[in-house]
Parts: sequence; C-alpha cells; structure tokens
Amino acid sequence: MNDCIFCKIVNKDIPSKIVYEDDSIIAFDDINPEAPVHVLIVTKKHLTGINGVEKGDKEVLGQMFLVAKKVAEIKGVKDSGYRFIINSGRNGHQLIKHLHMHLLGGRDLGPKLVA
Ligand code: 5GP
Ligand code: ZN
Repeated sequence: MNDCIFCKIVNKDIPSKIVYEDDSIIAFDDINPEAPVHVLIVTKKHLTGINGVEKGDKEVLGQMFLVAKKVAEIKGVKDSGYRFIINSGRNGHQLIKHLHMHLLGGRDLGPKLVA
C-alpha cells in the first residue's frame, strides 16, 4: 500500500490540486486532464477498485456520488453536463489500483463511451 500514489495524495505526501475533501473522500484535478474539467474522486480508504469493494463500503460508495454532485457544482458544470467513469482492470485501462471515479466536463464529451 505504501507504493500507492493515491494513498500518498490522501496522506498529503505528494501534492495535488484539491477540489473537495471530507472524512472519507478526496477530490483533486487529474494531472493529465482529458477535458477542461477532469477531477478524480478518490476514497481515502485504499480499495483496489470496483472489484475490491464489499458490503461494508456502501456508505463511502454513496458518498462518492454525493461528492461527485458537489464537485460538478464547484467546477460549474452541474447544468452543462458531465460524465463519470470508473475504469476497472486490464480492458478498462485501470492504471491506479486505488478506487477512483473520473468526473469529466466543460465541453461536449460526445455520444460514445468508448473510442
Ligand atoms: P485510471 O486509468 O487508473 O482510471 O486513471 C488514473 C488517472 O490518474 C489518470 O487519468 C492519470 O492522469 C491520473 N494520475 C496519475 N498519477 C497522478 C498524480 O500523481 N496526480 C494526479 N493529480 N493525477 C494522477
Ligand atoms: Zn491507495
């Protein structure tokens, strides 16, 4: 777990542009944005991804959605629209093995979910 880059961001061992933070979630700008708004909504608890969640994580999973709405408001895309993405595993191109949701917006994201 010590090698996990998102745990390091959670612990403030490496800097990030924090958009929102509470007891269970941190949200920060993606370092390599793919849209004018690209925020990562990350559980403070190290969960490996969607495959790593269990019943006991229900509350934090719900909180991710509430934070997503809040981040959309903070970033001014609540009314223009946005998209959430959670990548999982090899075919999903999950790079960081710590649960996170991408929030993308600020432009027309197109009608397709995959390239
Ligand atoms: P994944 O493919 O795992 O869903 O996405 C990982 C995301 O984390 C990528 O969009 C990548 O740009 C972002 N990322 C990787 N390292 C860092 C970092 O050190 N800081 C920030 N802010 N984002 C990062
Ligand atoms: Zn982690």
